[in-house]
Amino acid sequence: MSDCDNSRGMNDSRYDGLFEPIQIGPVTARNRFYQVPHCNGLGHVFPKAEAAMRGIKAEGGWGVVSTQEVDIHPSTDVSPYIEGRLWDEKDMHRLALTVDAIHEHNSLAAIEITHNGHEATNRQSRLPLMAVSEMIPGANLDPVQAYKMTREDIANFRCWHRRAAIRARDIGFDIVYVYAAHSLSLLAHFLSRKFNNRTDEYGGSLENRVRLLREVLDDTHDAVGDRCGIALRLAVREFLGQDSLSEDEGRDVVEMLADLPDIWDVNISGWMHDSKSSRFSNEGDQESYIAFVKQITGKPVVGVGRFTSPETMVDQIRRGVLDMIGAARPSIADPFLPEKIRQGRLEDIRECIGCNICVSGDMTVSPIRCTQNPTMGEEYRKDWHPEQIAPKSSEDSILVIGAGPAGIEATMSLGKRGYRVVLAEASRHAGGRVVRESRLPGLSEWRRVVDYRLGQIQRMRNVEMYFESKLNKEQVLELADELKFQHILCATGSTWHAGGIGRTHRTPLDLDESVTSVTPDQIMDGQNISGSALVFDDDHYYMGGVIAEKLASCGCQVTLVTPEANVSAWTQNTLEQTFIEKRLHDLDVRLIEKHALISLRDQQAIIQHVVSQEQRTLLIHNLILVTAREPSQQLYFSLKDDPEAIQERGIHSVTRIGDCLAPSTIAAAVYAGHLYARNFDEPVNIDEVPYRREYTEI
Ligand code: ADP
Ligand code: SF4
Repeated sequence: MSDCDNSRGMNDSRYDGLFEPIQIGPVTARNRFYQVPHCNGLGHVFPKAEAAMRGIKAEGGWGVVSTQEVDIHPSTDVSPYIEGRLWDEKDMHRLALTVDAIHEHNSLAAIEITHNGHEATNRQSRLPLMAVSEMIPGANLDPVQAYKMTREDIANFRCWHRRAAIRARDIGFDIVYVYAAHSLSLLAHFLSRKFNNRTDEYGGSLENRVRLLREVLDDTHDAVGDRCGIALRLAVREFLGQDSLSEDEGRDVVEMLADLPDIWDVNISGWMHDSKSSRFSNEGDQESYIAFVKQITGKPVVGVGRFTSPETMVDQIRRGVLDMIGAARPSIADPFLPEKIRQGRLEDIRECIGCNICVSGDMTVSPIRCTQNPTMGEEYRKDWHPEQIAPKSSEDSILVIGAGPAGIEATMSLGKRGYRVVLAEASRHAGGRVVRESRLPGLSEWRRVVDYRLGQIQRMRNVEMYFESKLNKEQVLELADELKFQHILCATGSTWHAGGIGRTHRTPLDLDESVTSVTPDQIMDGQNISGSALVFDDDHYYMGGVIAEKLASCGCQVTLVTPEANVSAWTQNTLEQTFIEKRLHDLDVRLIEKHALISLRDQQAIIQHVVSQEQRTLLIHNLILVTAREPSQQLYFSLKDDPEAIQERGIHSVTRIGDCLAPSTIAAAVYAGHLYARNFDEPVNIDEVPYRREYTEI
């Protein structure tokens, strides 16, 4: 494997403060970069993949690398979600893989042990749920209730937590968490009046509600504090409606426990507030909630804020907001972020775009993926390293057609391997759908997908780029004569269907010409709309909602019709659905759920309830169809259909990837481009499973 060029750049003294060691109880972190716990869909089911992924973070310079939540007992079984498990000693060897991988690079390994109380599912263990109070859980709609923990249950929980801490120490972890954040853990539930209605010494006053947290902190210190740093992860502010932890209570808890933990890891709750997408938050957004913590405690403080800019990081430390820069998403998008800062290679940083596709992995019970970093989750099973790629193994060159996320990633990664690449793009600039979509409200950070890759490509002498070059078959063949390449990669993208074909209608909709019917592409290309507009969203990701937002912001009276029960339903997986719905509500967008558009005649749109089939008529001026997309595959097939012309020119392969093969997410397009580049010149046997599998039993 060849290292990428690391010689550019020099250590920049402005950032020295980020590389000062810091003590956390009995252990010392080598710098200020702290990969806070984050889920990843690997955990106890894919322990080798988990270990490889965390090891790469350590290699990339994160001084502390943490696991995701690790459940301590079968009564906190969160299946089918895949987290870590430390139920008994049989789970230790799997976690040891992660510790070893982190230690190999001299970073500290942290473990977030937890019990989820009523937020567990116990679908696998079939134990009844236990909770701070007797209650019906709100996290999922399972028809179950949780029983209230007795003093004996509390004693048992403390014992399990203590035992897990000792096992964690024996595995080799350097930092052991006490977890009271995200409203996910029993300890957070005890703190919160929302859930805690106990009348014993664990309920009522804040002092009582803090009791268990204090006891568990003491237990953990007592059990492992001589060898491990004790981290307290606390949501100092909850946005969970009535009776959730207020600003004042959060401050009081910090005051009560000020110097008990060895490090404070502070954030806000629930998860959708902590990991807000870039559509709804900016870098460093949590500062106003957590800044007070350092004024109270003498212990180090770590916090998050989707930090990707070294200036912001230094500023957080200089101004006394944080001692350590916490990151989940920025460490996923670029596991080598600290190393790049250390080496002064700021232009090589692959900045997180805040799309939360990484979160969707966990939500859909699948291994993690990342829009910016196609190697995320593939470190073990495909042996992919985010900063290393095999050098070329032939002198072949490649024509890449289309500079969207698929084409530009393929170009960059092939270029890094040393291949000669010719990139032809129809429009005046690179970026394809990314650039167009980044102009929609709230999506400007998505541009980073292109900015990073273009920046890399522009430094490569083996890549030629041609813009305003919309190629047809004849032009491709002419180019082949002129520029001599042996491979053609079509990454020509897709367009939104104009006829309403989608999930509801597998054939074109019955539409007359009485209204202007436009697609998201036309709106992104600047088509003006005025008057009333009906957005029919049969796609359910962000596009329908964001188009409605754009039109409403421009003064249109917008109605959004969706067959789903919620607008932008899939964005539940990116923690955005509630924010989207609220924003549309605030913009007076009329939301009609569980309805499908059936036909449109004489400006009358007929919509029908998806279950009752009852019909309603809406009078509209404009119709925006956000349904399915149509792959732009004409060029690919015209080339494939002329094998003689291809052969004559010494062209060995014509391939299509990304949206022009099967429209999907930007993450999928980037991944497709990367996969093509990795596999290039490698024999691919389609009868073989294309990755290493792991089995935890037999
Ligand atoms: P993907 O997500 O698969 O990368 P995009 O739609 O984002 O797809 O990008 C496709 C890119 O291909 C767009 O920038 C488009 O302008 C370009 N393109 C499409 N057809 C041609 C063509 N025939 N010649 C050159 N470029 C093309
Ligand atoms: Fe950032 Fe998106 Fe990658 Fe998550 S998937 S780390 S939000 S770029």
